[in-house]
Amino acid sequence: MVKVKETLNPFDIAREQIDRAGKKLNLDSGLLEVLKNPRRELTVHFPVKMDDGKVRVFTGYRVQYNDAIGPFKGGIRYHWNVSLDEVRALSCWMTWKCAVMGIPYGGAKGGVICNPKEMSKGELERMTRRYASEISIIIGPEKDIPAPDVYTDSQTMAWIMDTISMNKGFAQPGVVTGKPLVIGGSLGRDEATSRGMMYATREAGKKVKLSLKGATVAVQGFGNVGSHYARLMHDEQGSKIVAVSDSRGGIYSEKGFDPKEVLAFKEKTGSVVGFPGTREVTNEDLLELPVDIVAPCALEGILTSENAPRIKGKIVAEGANGPTTPEADDILHKRGILVIPDILANGGGVTVSYFEWVQNLSEFFWTKKDVDEKLEGIMVSAFNRVWDMREAKKVDMRQAAYMVAIARVVEAYKWRGIFP
Ligand code: NAD
Repeated sequence: MVKVKETLNPFDIAREQIDRAGKKLNLDSGLLEVLKNPRRELTVHFPVKMDDGKVRVFTGYRVQYNDAIGPFKGGIRYHWNVSLDEVRALSCWMTWKCAVMGIPYGGAKGGVICNPKEMSKGELERMTRRYASEISIIIGPEKDIPAPDVYTDSQTMAWIMDTISMNKGFAQPGVVTGKPLVIGGSLGRDEATSRGMMYATREAGKKVKLSLKGATVAVQGFGNVGSHYARLMHDEQGSKIVAVSDSRGGIYSEKGFDPKEVLAFKEKTGSVVGFPGTREVTNEDLLELPVDIVAPCALEGILTSENAPRIKGKIVAEGANGPTTPEADDILHKRGILVIPDILANGGGVTVSYFEWVQNLSEFFWTKKDVDEKLEGIMVSAFNRVWDMREAKKVDMRQAAYMVAIARVVEAYKWRGIFP
């Protein structure tokens, strides 16, 4: 493990990002303090009967960061490294993401400290249902709507929807998004984050004069976001996917490969590592490969002042939330590398979650074409809003995105006022 100088605490990073944009916006210090703190935090410790008959106590969180613009919205993460500060940071980033995309939600996030890879399906179901029950006092279609994140998926959302519905006595599809289609999911939600990222990368490519056709791409994290992104860039933009990785390591081939074949291989063997015709690289080395586009799609804090000087891509597309530290941002900006910040790059996920919720509330379903076209419109407008701010204020893309987002939330406070 390489030692880095800066903090990797995600909530410290999130607060520094707010400070940076707040200064540029000349924000009042009281309002800045409001924006730097979550509105509500719920910590729950709850028992689950494991398959061996023993009872284990799990700890989970739901942080509701800010709802100045609309109901709280944000995913649920299952991971052994979940902490209150991580959930706070993720809920904070959700607030800016919804604001930058221009959708009528605030930000929230949840998490449970667990290792889902070592749990049976039955254990995961019992843990999910009990966690849903514990946080049911603050979630609901009109107040806070969870969605999938790392190591949670449409099955997890179905269990949460069922748990809440059983307690209400009737089906509540609008309580979560990212559900299976048959219980009110939206067409296109599974690939939405990645499709949005592809549109953002295409717009960025136009600005830095990089044609996506034949452009080389390295993707860290071959999960929901990373695998769909690799497929869409390969199939729809003609880009050359040369490296991908998962928690076990990465693969690299200068000639490139079809990510659909890698996905089939991973489904059979459990990892991308060992895919024929490629050589193994570490997750760290993957980021420094000589490629045009680097797409971190796993966890936070992986681009730091230590490795930023060695990144060779022209574009960094942040599928993951919080992959880059503020110090690394400065280095990448000075080196002329265009970072499409997480709150913009991966905002397609929450955008189609919003579409799903709208469809649930109106009980009217859209075609995949409707979803993709509306998503493209929202991504392109958001990208251009951020780009115009970057040009006008001569700041990097992250600060520009934060300035757009924070200005919007501040405007909501101006209208609503501070209660009482
Ligand atoms: P996922 O669980 O589907 O995939 C995560 C992938 O990362 C897996 O392939 C896993 O093997 C890999 N991974 C785990 N630890 C790693 C490590 N140390 N090094 C490299 N790879 C590692 O999760 P996901 O939903 O694809 O989320 C990935 C990132 O995208 C997260 O930061 C998440 O917050 C963000 N995100 C997800 C969505 C969404 O719609 N799912 C939306 C916006 C942002």
